[in-house]
Amino acid sequence: MSERAPSRFAGVAWTGEGYQVEVLDGAGHRVVGPSGWAAGRVPELIAWLRELSGGQGLAVVLDSTNGLLDGPLTAAGLDVYRADPWLLPPRPRFGSVPAERLARTPLGSLARVTAEGGSLTGRAEEYHEAVRRGAPIQAAMTAAGRCFEHGPRDTPKVALTFDDGPDPVHTGEVLAILARYGARATFFCVGHHVAALPDEVRRIADAGHELGNHSWSHPFLPDLTPEQLVEQLDRTTEAVARVTGEAPTRFRPPYGGLSPEVLATLADHPSELTMFDVDSRDWTRPGPERIAANVLGGVRPGSVVLMHEGAGDRGQTVRALPSIIEGLLERGLEPVTVGELPAPRPDH
Ligand SMILES: [Zn+2]
Repeated sequence: MSERAPSRFAGVAWTGEGYQVEVLDGAGHRVVGPSGWAAGRVPELIAWLRELSGGQGLAVVLDSTNGLLDGPLTAAGLDVYRADPWLLPPRPRFGSVPAERLARTPLGSLARVTAEGGSLTGRAEEYHEAVRRGAPIQAAMTAAGRCFEHGPRDTPKVALTFDDGPDPVHTGEVLAILARYGARATFFCVGHHVAALPDEVRRIADAGHELGNHSWSHPFLPDLTPEQLVEQLDRTTEAVARVTGEAPTRFRPPYGGLSPEVLATLADHPSELTMFDVDSRDWTRPGPERIAANVLGGVRPGSVVLMHEGAGDRGQTVRALPSIIEGLLERGLEPVTVGELPAPRPDH
């Protein structure tokens, strides 16, 4: 990352089709014309932004409902800033505020996003507070069978789940490994990537795996209005159904960002809220051995395991996967989809 104070500001807005970009200089003048990038062209977008940043210091500004880009951008060495809702005018029901608005947000008010801190860098306290307030409601939903966290503990099955895809590279790698062992899994996809990579979605479905809904743009859900949240869910469901002919029935919230307000909206939505009981922590990129140890150290019969296959370099997850599956099989645990786990009984 450059140490130089940025003299250029690239606002990156998301839409149903991809990303809109405006690049302004310190005086607020356009450095280049506004540009649009299809969601599948992220590598090219990154290369272009890197070129623009050369020697100048470029601040890339995203909003908090765009959780798919900061990982790849920070990994590429770009300086990424997040504009939170209280700095911005109301956004449309679907999409972020315009790119120009993001590029014009005063730098001093923005949060610098780091690779280590992730998309919600600087909002950890607020995040934990929202989840803490939501926890009793989530527990009540789980008890009532409205939220799935794991299957019964006497079922010799485990559900591996892969979030944030599909991905042009890692989806194929994950599918090949699963096929080698005859294992099935669940893929919680983001609508943005589904629209960009329909062939990958089709491959997942054709191989007998389950598709789930992981929102459209990977927003921090407490920042959305109920209408915006429903739009994120329904558009993603439609995008998957258009490709596979079948609508996903499960939703997994980005970051597990479940405030009471978010849970109230989800309780009225037909999607089944689907969480996990084992976190591989693969997004911290601790090395394939550590990822496998996190999974195999935490897994029990009926477990649902959280892993990632998209929105960044998931090579470590891919390299960990064979040891994870072999470790499960050695213990007599069959890797299945979440839908193939029986519903938990109230006394478990
Ligand atoms: Zn995610």
